[in-house]
Amino acid sequence: MQLPVIIVGGGLGGLATAVRLAAQGRRVILCEQNERVGGKLNLHQADGYTFDTGPSLLTMPWVIRDLFAVAGRRMEDYLCLEQVEPTCRYFWPDGTRFDAWQRLPQLIQEIERISPADVPNFFRFMAHTARIYDAVAGPFLLRPFDGLRELITPTMVRHALRIDALRSVDAAVRSFFRSPYLRQLFNRYATYNGSSPYLSPATFNLIAYIELAEGGWYVRGGMYQLAVALARLATELGVELRVRAPVTEVIVERGLACGVRLADGCLLPAAAVVINADPLYACERLIPGFQREANRLARFDPSYSGVVLFLGVEGDFPQLAHHNIFFSADYSAEFRAIVHERQPALEPTIYVAATCRSDPAHAPPGHMNLFVLVNAPADDGRIDWEAVIPAYRDHIIARLEMMGLSGLRQSIRYSHHWTPRDLARRYNAAFGAIYGLSSNSPLSAFARPPLRVRRVRGLYFVGGGTHPGGGIPLVLLSGQAVTARIVADQPL
Ligand SMILES: Cc1cc2nc3c(=O)[nH]c(=O)nc-3n(C[C@H](O)[C@H](O)[C@H](O)COP(=O)(O)OP(=O)(O)OC[C@H]3O[C@@H](n4cnc5c(N)ncnc54)[C@H](O)[C@@H]3O)c2cc1C
Repeated sequence: MQLPVIIVGGGLGGLATAVRLAAQGRRVILCEQNERVGGKLNLHQADGYTFDTGPSLLTMPWVIRDLFAVAGRRMEDYLCLEQVEPTCRYFWPDGTRFDAWQRLPQLIQEIERISPADVPNFFRFMAHTARIYDAVAGPFLLRPFDGLRELITPTMVRHALRIDALRSVDAAVRSFFRSPYLRQLFNRYATYNGSSPYLSPATFNLIAYIELAEGGWYVRGGMYQLAVALARLATELGVELRVRAPVTEVIVERGLACGVRLADGCLLPAAAVVINADPLYACERLIPGFQREANRLARFDPSYSGVVLFLGVEGDFPQLAHHNIFFSADYSAEFRAIVHERQPALEPTIYVAATCRSDPAHAPPGHMNLFVLVNAPADDGRIDWEAVIPAYRDHIIARLEMMGLSGLRQSIRYSHHWTPRDLARRYNAAFGAIYGLSSNSPLSAFARPPLRVRRVRGLYFVGGGTHPGGGIPLVLLSGQAVTARIVADQPL
């Protein structure tokens, strides 16, 4: 019988790899330590409320469609993706509001309403970011690289001039837009990969392009349905999904990965091992002799983490759309606190998702389920989150009340929270970082460990901690890239 490929971790990267390998006739066992697969895309249910605990917005839906297609299936038979209108409702402390519509005429009307001069600037910005997307998609996203040498090709050098990597997201956004509101709104896209708009290269303005040109999507029934669908597909293809199966060690013999040891002592032999767990954690805890690589990774800035509140509230806050952002008055101060001082921001920007707007069953009748997310510093152990969280939670709720959700505190019927330390513990995510290493410098991509683990044959990384990076579509593309490498290294 064929030795299986063993996947350590059932996040989206692990699931995508499992599906792709199984679709090519490989035997696959996936071991997930938690009670459910999905990783950071997960679910919290209590007192009649349902909350997605991680991603709330999906971009590049064609990546998911492709994944089903390689398995000879139609995505629509497993999942229903919907565009949410508006994609996001923005609130500012001075009372200004902006609806980011997916329909272009409405979006333009909104831009015209708050800053008529910026309408042509918006089109110039979209043309500019479209060119970046065009240059980046091939070499970085669709064909992630194993190292610097692979990337320096004549085509890439030519393309490098077009990707706007030498100034920050903020500098580029300022050069296009006059309105402080639009500047803050477009800067926010840098946070989609856990970075600061004041540090990360302007290349990441392509995130705005991707969302505005291709749309922002929601999975009917809740984002967790994506994990459910991928688990179903994997099972149909013969993948053995084991939950509550923590891996404690990758077995390496004579430079070759040949199995894993589970927490219950069981040994699983393998033809290859794919680590979907965080690479820094894996180098420290799972791969023997990799402490030096762990030390190297620990020298780079992690992406930031988050404080999450799960609030079940009675009544309706009619001003809330499905996705909402309550901006701070001073965005740069916020990133200074989180990135440089490693402190929670005093005046944080607050994201609120009310999935009950699209899925009424996510809250009891007459109630709302509010998923509240605030960017927070990566957990380097200096903050005693358990001590800090009660006051910080109150502060967040007070800010939301001040910005229009009056009576919020009184209407809370269910409350739960996660701190950066909870995220670290739950997923073995180093520093509780949501997106692996930060992308706060043009060279950050080169700091990420390659898909093929160096020095150990048959050992691979997949997911947000490796290439091309974090976020649902990139993590799924990582599964595609690692599968290609495994198949090339070990033809059937
Ligand atoms: C609050 C939050 C909001 C987000 N918002 C968005 C968004 O709106 N849009 C978007 O695209 N992305 C978003 N993301 C990011 C997105 O969720 C991640 O980039 C993606 O889900 C990461 O997938 P992954 O496969 O790389 O890893 P993970 O999801 O981290 O999966 C790794 C898995 O490995 C398991 N594991 C770890 N160690 C072991 C072990 N020893 N043995 C067995 N299993 C192990 C973990 O339990 C976990 O299930 C968000 C994330 C969070 C937390």
